[in-house]
Amino acid sequence: MSGSKPAAPVFETLDGNVASGVILVCDHATNIVPPEYADLGLSKDQLSRHIAYDIGVDGVIRHLSQLMNVPAVLSKFSRLLIDPNRGRDDPTLVMRISDGAIVPGNAAIDQDEIDHRMRTYYEPYDAAVGEAIERCLELGIVPALISIHSFTPSWRGTPRPWHAGVLWDSDARLALPFLEALRQQGDLVVGDNEPYSGELRGDMMNRHGTQRGIAHALLEIRQDLIADEAGIREWAQRLADILPPLVAEENLHSMLEDAG
Ligand SMILES: [Zn+2]
Repeated sequence: MSGSKPAAPVFETLDGNVASGVILVCDHATNIVPPEYADLGLSKDQLSRHIAYDIGVDGVIRHLSQLMNVPAVLSKFSRLLIDPNRGRDDPTLVMRISDGAIVPGNAAIDQDEIDHRMRTYYEPYDAAVGEAIERCLELGIVPALISIHSFTPSWRGTPRPWHAGVLWDSDARLALPFLEALRQQGDLVVGDNEPYSGELRGDMMNRHGTQRGIAHALLEIRQDLIADEAGIREWAQRLADILPPLVAEENLHSMLEDAG
């Protein structure tokens, strides 16, 4: 497989008003596995599970991009191929086993193939996010980044109590007001760095947000809430109501000096 060029685009950008200073990012939008990888040896059932992508987020991003008229960047390959939301040397960059499922197409992967996937999928998508940021900077606007993911309602048999979670690391400028606004909706249990911590060195928000001093937040939505079109539209509208006053705050649109 090394050396082969992808037949289909590995990322997609959605148009929006660049001057809005907001960029939506969707690392796990799809479960697409290029044909030469033969579904990585997984059944269609396994590929339709959360292990291959974040259920519901593609639709939320598309509606939200339209409602707010802001640009978005979406990956067009499964996280099982290579996970763009991991650091380059993260051991879970290419998953051999995920939530109990062995991934046959990754089991015997060598460094050449990892490098190939890095060059062919991870890096072009990562560069597309960087280019979206550059387009804002060219207008003299430091953008804020909003990344959207989704999580399973339970993990290893234990139900998760949250409807959503805001993940962040050291830059609270967007994350904490966003968290507070979600909690003020009144009908949501919202995790603060739950169900995961946002402090993951080398992940997408670390690379383009924390390390550059660019304001950002990562939203995790529980998958069953965005499993159908009605839920997707409801969440997109909810976010389109909440976010505009938050992202209009002046303090988001400058680079933090002490970027980690
Ligand atoms: Zn995700």
